[in-house]
Amino acid sequence: MTIFEKIINKEIPADIVYEDDNVIAFRDIQPQAPIHILIVPKKPIATIQEVPAEDLWLIAEMVKAAQKIADKLQIDGYRLVINNGKIATQAVFHVHMHMLAGRQLSGTLG
Ligand code: 5GP
Repeated sequence: MTIFEKIINKEIPADIVYEDDNVIAFRDIQPQAPIHILIVPKKPIATIQEVPAEDLWLIAEMVKAAQKIADKLQIDGYRLVINNGKIATQAVFHVHMHMLAGRQLSGTLG
């Protein structure tokens, strides 16, 4: 079980900013921007590469969650990032989207 499943199950605390039946979103413990939120499907799938076709609607639910969070926190610009695999620095093997905001982001992703 990953740390994110423990957060989903409320076994460990997190600063939750949004939750519905399919998705949870909470603040990153090591923020890379003033607003750094992780948007996570409750269904445990290890990587974006492994999301089955029948579960791709969950990715749309994650985007919907980002839109709702942006409205709620009055964020006018943000970046969404998904890391796939160790080479992309994925550390937690439960699909998640980083939502970064609150400062001018640089023009490069590298
Ligand atoms: P990845 O590199 O897998 O795309 O990102 C994983 C993110 O999860 C990292 O930004 C890291 O700071 C965050 N993270 C790891 N453990 C915890 C935790 O226990 N609580 C919270 N809120 N964030 C975590």
